[in-house]
Amino acid sequence: MVHSMTNDCKDLQEKILKLKKERKALILAHNYQIIEIQEIADFVGDSLQLARKSAEVHGYEMIIFAGVKFMAEMAAILSPDVPVYIPDPNALCPLASYIDAEKIRQKKREYPGVPVVVYVNTTAEAKSEADYICTSGSAVEVVESLGVDRVIFGPDANLAEYVRSHTNVEIIDIDQRGHCYVHNMFDLNMLIELKEKYPDAVAIAHPECLIEVQEAADLVGSTGMMVRTVAESDAKVFIIATEMGLLHQLQKHHPDKKIIPMYEGAVCRQMKKHTLEKLLDVLENLPSENIVTVPDQYAPHIRGILERMNKVKGQGPAVAIEAES
Ligand code: SF4
Repeated sequence: MVHSMTNDCKDLQEKILKLKKERKALILAHNYQIIEIQEIADFVGDSLQLARKSAEVHGYEMIIFAGVKFMAEMAAILSPDVPVYIPDPNALCPLASYIDAEKIRQKKREYPGVPVVVYVNTTAEAKSEADYICTSGSAVEVVESLGVDRVIFGPDANLAEYVRSHTNVEIIDIDQRGHCYVHNMFDLNMLIELKEKYPDAVAIAHPECLIEVQEAADLVGSTGMMVRTVAESDAKVFIIATEMGLLHQLQKHHPDKKIIPMYEGAVCRQMKKHTLEKLLDVLENLPSENIVTVPDQYAPHIRGILERMNKVKGQGPAVAIEAES
């Protein structure tokens, strides 16, 4: 997984870094972002880590969020005093589009009094109807913390199944069809073949993967858990079932370890809509159509349920990032 940059690419990166300083811009990039953007970002992480970073920024006058739109919406909610720009406003997560506010209201009418837990991969509009938010890493803890017999859950049916198999709580899907097309690309045969080839490898699957892949993997966990496991484990070879962008981070930070993608075609086209050219355009022209906003009626509720999730996980506030002087 050696990545080489062209001269054009380096020129663009240099222009962005120069203008970023002048504009006092913070660039946040998701783990699934194109490598050229990861390389110039102030911080690369998962959706929750990026939301936390955006909540604690000081000395910046704008945030450029290279991720899909629901992630930029969280940044806009948590950092209301700083404009949040997205390089391509059409970078939408197809998984998030499986549920909307009306579908959730419909389930609430069917199951009155049952709490609604939504995965962070949802629009702000859908989150406004939820009682709790979870990430793939916190879904089991959030559901268990409620002390109830059943919850309404969505949009990812594979993550719902993972929670079902790790709790005694009845999980009512908001939409059973909900899935991430990228994580659904991994199949059991790919894993079996790789395990035969690398018998000492530790296979880690994301909980958005198909259930048979989760069951055959050595570990199941979020991208954050994958990062921690590769860092802390004595194992030298890892088979990773998640979007290819994360593998760049893993290999970069652990050159002594072998990071094997379960499938090299696992690429999120929506995440890859962002380019260096679009990022530079935001910095040069500050286009108003690239500013991500969340209607005022949603923001306080979503901020409240995000804080509630943080308490469940027992995690402290985000780490502060100071702008370079
Ligand atoms: S990888 Fe899947 S869940 Fe993540 S943004 Fe792409 S489609 Fe959505």
